[in-house]
Amino acid sequence: MALFEGDDFASGTSGRSSRLVHGGIRYLERAQLHLVHESIREREILLRIAPHIVKPLAFTWPIYRGARVGKVKLSAGLFVYRLMALGRSRRHLTLDAAETIAREPALEGAGLTGSAVYYDACTDDARLTVVNALSAREYGATVANHTRVTELLRENGKVIGAIVTPRHGGEAYRVRARVIVNATGVWENTFITGERAQRRRGSKGVHISVARERVGNHDALTLISPIDGRVMFCLPAGPQTIIGTTDTWTDESPETVHASPDDVDYLLRSANAYFPAAMLALTDVVSAWAGIRPLATESSTNPSAVSREHSIVTDSSGVISVTGGKLTTYRSMAAEIVDLVQTSLGHKRQRAATDSTELPGADRDAEIARLQREDGSLSAPLVESLRYTGAHLVYGVRAEMAQTLSDLLVRRTHLAFETRDHGSSVALRAAQIVAPLLGWSEETKSARVREYERDIARMFTIDQISAHHG
Ligand SMILES: Cc1cc2nc3c(=O)[nH]c(=O)nc-3n(C[C@H](O)[C@H](O)[C@H](O)COP(=O)(O)OP(=O)(O)OC[C@H]3O[C@@H](n4cnc5c(N)ncnc54)[C@H](O)[C@@H]3O)c2cc1C
Repeated sequence: MALFEGDDFASGTSGRSSRLVHGGIRYLERAQLHLVHESIREREILLRIAPHIVKPLAFTWPIYRGARVGKVKLSAGLFVYRLMALGRSRRHLTLDAAETIAREPALEGAGLTGSAVYYDACTDDARLTVVNALSAREYGATVANHTRVTELLRENGKVIGAIVTPRHGGEAYRVRARVIVNATGVWENTFITGERAQRRRGSKGVHISVARERVGNHDALTLISPIDGRVMFCLPAGPQTIIGTTDTWTDESPETVHASPDDVDYLLRSANAYFPAAMLALTDVVSAWAGIRPLATESSTNPSAVSREHSIVTDSSGVISVTGGKLTTYRSMAAEIVDLVQTSLGHKRQRAATDSTELPGADRDAEIARLQREDGSLSAPLVESLRYTGAHLVYGVRAEMAQTLSDLLVRRTHLAFETRDHGSSVALRAAQIVAPLLGWSEETKSARVREYERDIARMFTIDQISAHHG
């Protein structure tokens, strides 16, 4: 078994999510009960098998007079939400206005009638993706990042393998395979054409991060944007608050998708309605980034109304393509695909053991502390006030398959999201720390720093691209 990732694990949509492992309470409004049920089940499994990366998170959902989702509707929804978890999740609380303000003092008090506090989970999306790749490798799979599938090989109309091309030099090579799974997300249509390809539309989701002390939130909040009535989140992320997300149709390329001033304005105005004293402005934005959801629709209605359920199809050449779904439900999608692969190979179906197999990486913090003890120079923070050190980079290379500065500063750490220069000022130092491990010459080091500058410009620049909210 082999996995080829053309860029880095989670460099696509998976590293640009809201970092929630959640049941998707908002899907209840659209009666997408199957999706909610599956997501809640997966949330509970992930809390069990990856407690080092998936952690419970309390959400406060404030309710204002005249709100689209009032107290009764929300309580009923949360009752069903908990019922679907078969009582395994913590019971939600209902608070009055004074109790809500005691919990979240910076919230707008005018018109506030109370709130509900409920429980979901949060994660580090990029690490969750990486540890799954590492787990596959532990169980015998060949796993390669920065290795793109550049062509599918066919014989008598059936796919029999692929040509894969390493990104940083090295010859392209052929890989024979009896079954091929195309799990390329928004890039899915690179490998399939025709009717199915036309049924996909991309919806862009933007997040911004701002200093948490500027917003003043204590915990996570579920909010309804006063601009268009969509559910959105304010999420604590260390010293920062992440505000997101937008949901607008886009034709932008997933390689270059980034936030526009309109996207950022929408998020700032929505957050300001709930935290008016903050008066958040563009100058408060530490970083802004975008991802694209591949949605199964041709329709031009509101993208928020399109189901997030995944779809799996096998085309006439035998390629199994999966797309859509959520980070939260990745494990159950994978189990479904493995069943199809087993059938296709004529093997007897075996039940996936992934619901009880712990994901690797639980020793990461201890390993990083050990590296710091062994070499004191690795314990200095890369950026003052952030927790990342040289040891995080060394660990990323040695244990987490990082090969580039973006792998290290965008995904194995989140330094790029948490600094206004997106790690530009530490890129050279980071290159110097990992150069001996990756065999980089002086020339390669400079090339990698330049490549990093291009990567962060593509991902974090805020500039004008037309966006339509609503
Ligand atoms: C703004 C936003 C917020 C979200 N928030 C959440 C959330 O909080 N919780 C949640 O559960 N879900 C969330 N989602 C949904 C979730 O992020 C996606 O469903 C999920 O990440 C999709 O994963 P994927 O593997 O299908 O796609 P991707 O993560 O995009 O992976 C596809 C990969 O294929 C690779 N690839 C492409 N072409 C090739 C090739 N030729 N050869 C080799 N590799 C190739 C790419 O490099 C890429 O890494 C969110 C989505 C968005 C856009």
